[in-house]
Amino acid sequence: MKTFHASLVVICALCAFGNPAKSKAADKKPDRQVAITIDDLPAASNLLPAPAITEMTTKLLTTLRDQKIPVVGFVNEKKLYKSGEVDERINALRMWLDFGFELGNHTFSHASLNRVGLKAWEDDVIQGESVTSLLLAEHKMKMRYFRHPYLDTGRDLQTRREAEAFLVARGYRIAPITLDAWDWAYAGVYEDAKKRGDAAAQEELAKSYLSYSDAVFAYAEQQAKQLIGYEPKQILLLHGNQLEADHIGELLDLFRKRGYRFITLEDALGDSAYSLPDTYVGEEGTGWLDHWAITQGKIPQGAPVFPQAVIEKWKALAPTQP
Ligand SMILES: [Zn+2]
Repeated sequence: MKTFHASLVVICALCAFGNPAKSKAADKKPDRQVAITIDDLPAASNLLPAPAITEMTTKLLTTLRDQKIPVVGFVNEKKLYKSGEVDERINALRMWLDFGFELGNHTFSHASLNRVGLKAWEDDVIQGESVTSLLLAEHKMKMRYFRHPYLDTGRDLQTRREAEAFLVARGYRIAPITLDAWDWAYAGVYEDAKKRGDAAAQEELAKSYLSYSDAVFAYAEQQAKQLIGYEPKQILLLHGNQLEADHIGELLDLFRKRGYRFITLEDALGDSAYSLPDTYVGEEGTGWLDHWAITQGKIPQGAPVFPQAVIEKWKALAPTQP
């Protein structure tokens, strides 16, 4: 058996040397592109006090700015109104613009279009503009992007289309997503471990998160190729949490290893994939690759399974989750 292995190695080595063109092609990294978006600002968790939000925001934005990564952050202004902390929370939002990033609307209270009804949801969109629009105006910018809470785009096509027309009429572009590794589920457990000072648990969760992300990205790349024949400019969904603040650098490295460059959301939306037929409706929000698949009558299959142990821990903490 040992000899057999050894000869295989020799044969393979010969193959590689014998065909330089082929080996060069195999080494060539694919040219992939991704836009990063970060939701639920100023902080996904309602348990973080304002000083922790300031610290988290500074850490996250410093890494992103140093590495020249364009990002759009999506705000839930309801999260600003905590007694005694309003100014500091607004300042955490302002930091996004001071650091050179952009902010968009994610509704005032993170209302689901699938639950609250169209009229109440539209009111929540409008209420979500007040402070963010003022902050954008300070930087000579205007609100231009909207992200649906829970990715819930409507339970029926009429509601979906009416909501879209409402958003367009108010000057928004809808920000779809194609990559999502459920960092919110990891983050709840991670932030609890951090609060308890359990460094080993934090490390383990970060490792699991990065490896699950890698699997999710690989799956999305394959799914896209099968559905539309190429990998579109992807759009990643993250959330404002301590897991990202502590580990975003490793996530960026993971993207680079897969051959990605970082682009603006505006650039990504220029990809014709985002104009593909999309008649998805459902109780559960999901990413746009699933939208396109279901529109084509295909049931998405083979997605990586989210680690059950993390789900169990997240459920155990659920009463304290936002
Ligand atoms: Zn959200």
